[in-house]
Amino acid sequence: MNVIFLGPPGAGKGTIAQRLQDRMGLLQISTGDLLRGAVSQGTELGKKAKGYMDAGELVPDDLVIDMLKERISQPDCRKGVILDGFPRTIPQAEALDASDISVDAVVRFNVSDETVIRRLSGRRISKSTGKIYNVNPEGMPKPPADLAEGDLIQRDDDKPEAIKNRLDVYERQTAPLIDYYEKKGMLTTIDAEQPMERIIEATTAAIEKSS
Ligand code: AMP
Repeated sequence: MNVIFLGPPGAGKGTIAQRLQDRMGLLQISTGDLLRGAVSQGTELGKKAKGYMDAGELVPDDLVIDMLKERISQPDCRKGVILDGFPRTIPQAEALDASDISVDAVVRFNVSDETVIRRLSGRRISKSTGKIYNVNPEGMPKPPADLAEGDLIQRDDDKPEAIKNRLDVYERQTAPLIDYYEKKGMLTTIDAEQPMERIIEATTAAIEKSS
């Protein structure tokens, strides 16, 4: 069972995937996390990807496709994955179609630009656990009170200059995938402005329906 999560940055894909990973036994594969890992390890891929990522641009398709295929061929992916942040372009979706990786469902998380900007500017990541939190007054989930000082970091591309560019990139390069998967009859759209528990229920139901 493999599922694609589609939606703009800040729609909650990573948080929802982390929750469903425990609940449904699907492994979250975030191409953004894999790329950030490559950057921090200073690999060849990381060196090529860094400039694009810092600017909020997409990393070239061939690099991301090879990275994703390599990751998905590993044994821990056999039970099924949630693709969080892949595909992000039509050529990536076509490469997935042409591969031996089957896709059972595509869940699209719909949010307004205002919500994206508010969420991304408050988003923080725990350096020690990789968990995602939000420090805005209305943001969820809140960082735990006992977190070590300095453990929460803000991604460079969550800073205001990069956020606007990422939204433009989403509209131009990723939003066409909505139509692409709708035409294949694979798409379920979920209102990602609802309370998190409702989003989790709706997403679980969408995935179960297609299994
Ligand atoms: P994310 O963590 O999904 O927001 O991704 C962070 C950054 O990694 C993006 O802004 C892109 O620069 C890069 N990235 C992640 N996934 C992809 C992808 N599928 N194709 C191209 N670039 C990607």
